[in-house]
Amino acid sequence: MTAPVLLLLTHDATGAVVSVDQVDPAKPHVSVADLSATRGDGIFESVGIVGGRAQALEPHLERFARSARMLDLPAPDLDVWRSAILRAADLADEPETELLAKVIFTRGVEGTGVPTGWVHVFASPSYRAAREGGIRVVTLDRGYRSDVADTSPWLLQGAKTLSYAINMAALREAARRGADDVVFVSTDGIVLEGPNSNVIALIDGVYVTTPVELGVLKGTTQGAFFADVEARGAKVEYRSMTLAELQGASAVWLSSSGRQIAAVTELDGVPMAQDPAITPVELAALLAR
Ligand code: PLP
Repeated sequence: MTAPVLLLLTHDATGAVVSVDQVDPAKPHVSVADLSATRGDGIFESVGIVGGRAQALEPHLERFARSARMLDLPAPDLDVWRSAILRAADLADEPETELLAKVIFTRGVEGTGVPTGWVHVFASPSYRAAREGGIRVVTLDRGYRSDVADTSPWLLQGAKTLSYAINMAALREAARRGADDVVFVSTDGIVLEGPNSNVIALIDGVYVTTPVELGVLKGTTQGAFFADVEARGAKVEYRSMTLAELQGASAVWLSSSGRQIAAVTELDGVPMAQDPAITPVELAALLAR
């Protein structure tokens, strides 16, 4: 079992990192007055570490910076964060085990204006059942229109914030309905994303995913999936898709950093078409990144 590794990034009031220190992950380090704890006010990334390699590190860092901009946090110094993630991955050094790096940046202790940051690397939960057996998914209304990112940017759709209570509630609702995961749909009937995943559908031979303009996260795993299938000569498209299109797709996957991809076997209780030839090939390609 991998011993978790924790690096604390200490900031000053300008938002600059003044030190990066390895500390004991079993000890407390974050103040009870930190705005991440009291308001969920901060951002994060979950970076998969497979075979000792931090996957999609640059896309994760770009998204981290974008989330910081959307929340009016100080711009994170990406060089410092990159080397902290690589150092923590190195210290955990368990090439046989899949790891996750949780990269956290918060507005800090209330009233100080000094952000809090850390990188925590630990053994990833097992996604074997989802990867091999697929997942049953329910659609849930997100309660927002698909133009929410334009009309109401303060709702922070498309930022990876620490306010994930709603996402976790949606997953509990899925469990209550006998499913494993969720696809959020907008009030105007457009397929969005999962609570911690992107949706990829194979429709008329084209791999389709929802564009970030509709208020979904720019998926690093979805990006790698698209790059791989494009390299094999397939067509990909970023466009809005209706629920009816999703239901009629030749195959659907949810993608995310720890899990990589999982094929959707059932949508709202109805068996989904699948493409059993593609899933293992893409899974292997994503794990080998
Ligand atoms: N959408 C949401 C809301 C997420 O939380 C995540 C990741 O956890 C994703 C999509 C997938 O992004 P990635 O593939 O970069 O992990």
